[in-house]
Parts: sequence; structure tokens; C-alpha cells
Amino acid sequence: MNFYPVKPGDCYFIPSGTIHAIGSGCLICEIQQNSNLTYRVYDYGRKDKNGNERELHVDKALKVTNLKKYIPNFLNVLTKHGNLLGISKYFTVTSVDVNGNAIIDMDSASFKCFTCVSGDGYIEDFAITAGDSRLITAFDGKITLKGNMKLIMTEIRKYYIGIDLGGTFIKGGIVDDLGNIVYSDKIPTGAEGGQDAVAKNIATLANMLLEKTGLSKDDVVGIGMGVPGMIDSEAGVVILSNNLKWYNFKIADAVSSLTGLRVKIANDANVAILAEVKFGIAKNKKNVIMLTLGTGVGGGIVANSQLIEGNLSVGAELGHSVIIKDGEPCTCGRRGCLEAYASASALIRDTKRAMQAHSDSKMWEIGSIDKVTGKTAFDYRDKDIYAKEVVDNYISCLGTGIVNFANIFRPEVVLLGGGVCAEGDNLIRPLQEIVDREVFAKDAGPKVTVMIAALENSAGTLGAASLLM
Ligand SMILES: [Zn+2]
Repeated sequence: MNFYPVKPGDCYFIPSGTIHAIGSGCLICEIQQNSNLTYRVYDYGRKDKNGNERELHVDKALKVTNLKKYIPNFLNVLTKHGNLLGISKYFTVTSVDVNGNAIIDMDSASFKCFTCVSGDGYIEDFAITAGDSRLITAFDGKITLKGNMKLIMTEIRKYYIGIDLGGTFIKGGIVDDLGNIVYSDKIPTGAEGGQDAVAKNIATLANMLLEKTGLSKDDVVGIGMGVPGMIDSEAGVVILSNNLKWYNFKIADAVSSLTGLRVKIANDANVAILAEVKFGIAKNKKNVIMLTLGTGVGGGIVANSQLIEGNLSVGAELGHSVIIKDGEPCTCGRRGCLEAYASASALIRDTKRAMQAHSDSKMWEIGSIDKVTGKTAFDYRDKDIYAKEVVDNYISCLGTGIVNFANIFRPEVVLLGGGVCAEGDNLIRPLQEIVDREVFAKDAGPKVTVMIAALENSAGTLGAASLLM
């Protein structure tokens, strides 16, 4: 047997099947799922009230004992409410320090049970002191904790693995049903090794995430993955990925057989909007459009709470709708696409053109034309007429695209993502004015609100995990 010296405040997560005993001098708070089964393998010669030794269950215990060496797992992840001590599908345990007032978010998916381990105070109007426990039943709302005390908070959460498969890195995280990323990590994609090698790398990352958080495969619902390319999301097949040079790769089956977990996939460009609708700024909205303004213009559509991917997920290419017939050439081969006017690349192109056409433009202060970024014209819009023209034209083109999509889908929210969104209100306010002025049935119809997406880098992982929720 292994012995672990302990000190006040230590927390040990002991998986079922691990032979364990508590040494003398320990006062412990033990949290476990409902169970009425314990196999006793040694009883220190203790006697019951009638003077008889208690029954041992060595034969039965041997059948279920995990003989792998126990390695203590200290999770210690800081979350909104405190320090996460241990997670499993049966319970999630958080250490909550209260010094004065603390607000705890409740939700309708789980109760919260509070055990006071030191100090004293109040949960709402109920006094609590060391040794007391109080159970708050599930509801959507908040509760207030008052006092100076350390509480152990127990609740039940579901856990998912979200994987964001990119050309260079595979990013992944353990995500709970409230959209908290408990732990995240990334490993190189290793695309040069071929599709089976990438599937192995995904499985390696998934196992790493489980190991770091002390979860077993049994504790997670499954793996959700955002995958680049043309996807049959029902069958879990990548029909074609230009970046990864894959053709008809049954990626869901491959990762599932390597991990023993359920796997669901969707196109990576489409999962970001799912994250925003499930956990982000468009939470609980039924109709949402998202435009990602980067090198290109990516699109995402949620209509009546359903992700609209089109056949083999090749749809929702909102950036390739034409806003000016025979306009600027687009990467797709057409002319005049929204992408050719509203992408960061288009903004940079137009800024350079304005500078080249006007040697008196104040934008030349940046030094050379090579230093132009998507920010340049915005930075000079108030002091340079040519910069203002570039910005006005950019916003007008983007606004035209947004109004088109607003008229087709009539969303509650149009979300914008990508680097250009750093302009914040300078971008959103004029776009909102265009939408309010031009959208169909602007007076009688429901309002369409333009907003900046909130989840940024975590959207890929969260959206992937949400495929299984
Ligand atoms: Zn195009």
C-alpha cells in the first residue's frame, strides 16, 4: 500500500476500485455519488457492539480492485466561483472562499450542495458554520453568500471534449454543460503523416485532456470536432479537405475506435456560431447570422435554432454573395463578392490604393505602403479625407451584405468576428444605422441587432463540444 502524508486543505480524488483507508488524526469531508456498496478488505481488528469482528469481502473486492498505481490528481483549476478540486460525471467539487459577499450563479441543470469546512456565515438568510451542509435545489438565478468561511460546493455537471482541428494545431478542451472550459491544450496536427496519424494525434490529445483533469472515458459524453473541408456531418466523414489533402476520410469512426468515445463532427467554420448561440453573446437567440471578417469573409447561419450547413456543409458561404455585379475579383472566381469588399484583405487593398492615388494622404505617416494593416484607414479616418473614404466605403459594402442576409433570414442578431472587430463601436454604430435604415419592414418588423462576437479563440472548442449537447 502507498501512504500519502496529508495537511489541512488537501483534496484527493479516488476513483472507484481504488483500495483506500484514512489514517488516524484526519477529519475529512467525503463526497461521493449515491452508493450503498463498500467492500471491506481489512478492519484493523475492530469489533462491533456485540464484540464480533466485521465481515470482510476480500474475494469480491479482488474482482473489482484497480491494481494500477494510484497517482493523486490535483486539478486546481480556477473557475468563476472558486478552485475546482475534482470532476467526474457524478459530481463536481469546487472550493469556495467567502470573504465578505460572494454571488453564486445557479442553473436549472443541477443543485448545489455547500459544506462549510471552516469559518461561518450565511447562504442567503440561512446561517452556516463549520460542519454544516446546505442543499440549494436547481433553479435559474443567483444566490448570495456572506461571511468569512471556506465552503466545499458540490454539483453535477456533464463533460464533453471539444476538438478544433486546424492545419497546424489540434486544439482541444474539456468543456462542461455550462460552457466553461475546464482545461485546454493543443498539439501539432502532424498533417504530413497522413489522415491516420492525425486521427491518432486527436486521440492522444483527448487522452491527455482526460488525464490532466482526472476524468475517465466514462465521465465524458463524447468528442465534438470542428473539421475543415467538405463534411458529411451525419456520417462523420470528411468528403474533401483541400488543406489536409483528405478524400473520403471516415474521421468520426477513426477517432471513435481509437478512443472508445462517441464522436460528432461539423465544419469548423460553422461551429463558431454554435458556440455564440449556446454560450456567447447570442445566447438563447433562435435566428443568428455570423460573418467572420478575416483574410476572407466566413459565414455562419443558425435559423430556428438549427445550424444551416447546406449539402455536405458547403453552404453558408455568405462571403461569396455578390454585392456589386462585375466588381472586384474574388478568390472564388466570381466578381463583386462581399468578400472582395468586406474582408481584411480588401480593406488593406483599398487603403493601399488610396495612398498610391494621393501622395498627400496623411496615411503616408506610417512610413511605407508595406506597413498598411486593416487598422490603418480606421486610425486616420478623423484626420485624413482619403482614409475616411476608405472606411466609409468598407462599412457601406459590409452594411449592404448584412442587410441582404437580414432580409433573407431576419435574424435577431448579426454577429461579426475577426480582427476588424477591434474597431468596436466605430464599426458597429454605422452598420446598425445602415441596417435600421435599409432592412425590409424596418418600422413594423422585429429589430435586427449588429453585435461583435464574444468568444474569440475559445469559440472553436466550445462550438465543437456543443455538437453533443
Ligand atoms: Zn467570392
